[in-house]
Amino acid sequence: PAPQENVTGGPARLTVLAGPTAVGKGTVSADIRTRYPHVWLSVSATTRPPRPGEVHGVHYLFVQPEEFDRMVADGEMLEWAVVHGRHRYGTPRGPVVEHLAAGCPTLLEIDLQGARQVRDAVRASGLDAQFVFLAPPSFDELVRRLVGRGTEDAEERERRLRTARVEMAAEAEFDVTIVNDDVTRATDELARLLQAGQAGAAAS
Ligand code: 5GP
Repeated sequence: PAPQENVTGGPARLTVLAGPTAVGKGTVSADIRTRYPHVWLSVSATTRPPRPGEVHGVHYLFVQPEEFDRMVADGEMLEWAVVHGRHRYGTPRGPVVEHLAAGCPTLLEIDLQGARQVRDAVRASGLDAQFVFLAPPSFDELVRRLVGRGTEDAEERERRLRTARVEMAAEAEFDVTIVNDDVTRATDELARLLQAGQAGAAAS
């Protein structure tokens, strides 16, 4: 029998990866990009300025606030949020729909507010999606990683820690938890879930 069709017309499942700040979502995503190139990683738009080494169109679409406003107003965002009380981040809808329709396992690495919006959108549309929570081995370990990264000043670090405490409590809202005790292991587990989505869709 033909794969069961979702609203995108294709069999691929959307996977949403969220978790507290500095848990390593970016590292796991980068590892997916390198070792599992058949997975399509959504490129978010953001009003945050690029960090050294970040490439427009690869890591983010770095846009001016006016352009972000326009994308939201024109309904181009699947979800968007102000993250850490500062910059805006959003998932452009078009490329996600296109990749799912083409049967491509698709991964969104977004914050918790965004994940909740995608869940509402999924409920409304019947899109096939799974929600994966990336957890640190412990909160103390999360603090160590956040301080160790050294990309934020003290005020920003405090802001992110407050957010992280709240975000840790959200684990129960997710379908699956992956503990990021080791990046390669966590990535392999995520890749299996992405594949399981494919196999599940094809078998139904
Ligand atoms: P950073 O500025 O360190 O790259 O990312 C900050 C936070 O923004 C991370 O928690 C990341 O998951 C989140 N983020 C990145 N892209 C998106 C997006 O498209 N939507 C939402 N809601 N959050 C995002």
